[in-house]
Amino acid sequence: LDIKNEDLKKLADLGHGNGGSVVKVEHLPTGTLMAKKIVLIDAKASVRKQILRELQIMHECRSEYIISCYGSFLADPNICICMEYMDKGSFDNIYRKIGPIDINVVCLVAQAVLEGLIYLYDTHRIIHRDIKPSNILCNSDGAIKLCDFGVSGELINSIANTFVGTSIYMSPERIQGAHYSVKSDVWSLGITLVELALGRFPFCDVDDDDLSDLEDLAITENHNRTPTHRDSFMISKQEKAKRMSRRKSKGIPNMTASSADPPSLSIIELMHQIVREPAPRLPSNFDDEAQEFVDACLMKDPHDRHSPRTLLEYRWMDDARDSSFDLKEWASTF
Ligand code: ATP
Ligand code: MG
Repeated sequence: LDIKNEDLKKLADLGHGNGGSVVKVEHLPTGTLMAKKIVLIDAKASVRKQILRELQIMHECRSEYIISCYGSFLADPNICICMEYMDKGSFDNIYRKIGPIDINVVCLVAQAVLEGLIYLYDTHRIIHRDIKPSNILCNSDGAIKLCDFGVSGELINSIANTFVGTSIYMSPERIQGAHYSVKSDVWSLGITLVELALGRFPFCDVDDDDLSDLEDLAITENHNRTPTHRDSFMISKQEKAKRMSRRKSKGIPNMTASSADPPSLSIIELMHQIVREPAPRLPSNFDDEAQEFVDACLMKDPHDRHSPRTLLEYRWMDDARDSSFDLKEWASTF
C-alpha cells in the first residue's frame, strides 16, 4: 500500500509520548482506519532514507501479537508510520479508566507479550526494548498486540527529543549500562504485569509529579554509547532548557509542565531502588501461579531470569492456554 499524507484524514488525537504523537486517521482511498505515528526527527536526508529502509522490517511482521504496519513515509521534518488502529487503546489508558485489570486479562497479556517477543526475536532478531502498558494495545475483537519496538537504530538515534527508552521500566542491568538482551524486556514485562494487576505503578514511593519528571529524563542509549553511571540518566537543567526551546521552535508542544526543573532526587532514588532493593512482587492474594511467573520475570540478575520461551512453560501460561476467559466480552465493557 502506497500511503500518501494527503490521503489521510485526521479523525482524532490518540495521545503523545516522548518520541512524537499518534493520531487516528482514515485512509480515504481504502476507507481503512489507521493510527498514524508522527515522529519529529533530526537527521539528514541519507539518514532519513536509512530510517525508512529500517522501518521496512515492520511491514514484514506477520504475527497476531504484533501491530501490523501499513506503510511509512517522510513528511518533512517528520517520519510518519501508519499502523493498525486498535480501538480499545493501550493498557495504561485502560487501567486508568477502569482500575486494576482482572488477573485473567493480565494472564493473557503476559502470554501475548511473550509470544510477540518470541516472534520478533526468532523471526527478525529484534529486541523490543520498550515493553510497558502504553505499548500494549487492545481492540474490540479481544486481540492484544505489541507496538513501538526497536526496529530502527537510526530512528532511535535521530528522534529530535533524543529521549529514548523509558527509565521506569528498565531492568537493573540496563540501568547499570550492561548489555541489553531479550531478558531486559522480560523485566519490563514483569513490572508491567504488576502495574496492570494493581492499577498503579508498582514502585510505591513515586508520586505522579515524579513520574512526569521521569518521562522527561534523557537516556542516551545509542549504539556507540551506553550509560555506565547513574548520572548519565540525568540531564542538566541547561540541556533540558535547550531541548525545550528547540522543541518550541519546531512547534512541538511542551508535554510536561515541570519540564524545566531538573529531575527530583526521588528519581535517582528510584533508580537506586530498582538496582538495590528487592524487586516488586504481586501481593499474596493473587494465585501462586501468577506470583511465581511474575517473580521469574523480576529476577534481578539477568542470568537467573528466564527467556520468553522458557517462561511460556510456566504453570500460569498453561492457565492462559486453557483460559476460557472471553476477552472480546471484557473489551466490550469499557
Ligand atoms: P512513550 O513515548 O514514552 O513511549 P507512549 O507509548 O504513550 O509513550 P506513543 O507511542 O507516542 O507514546 O503513543 C501515544 C498514545 O497513542 C499511546 O499511549 C496509545 O494510547 C496511543 N496509540 C499508539 N498506537 C496506537 C494504535 N496503533 N492504536 C490506537 N492507539 C494507539
Ligand atoms: Mg508507544
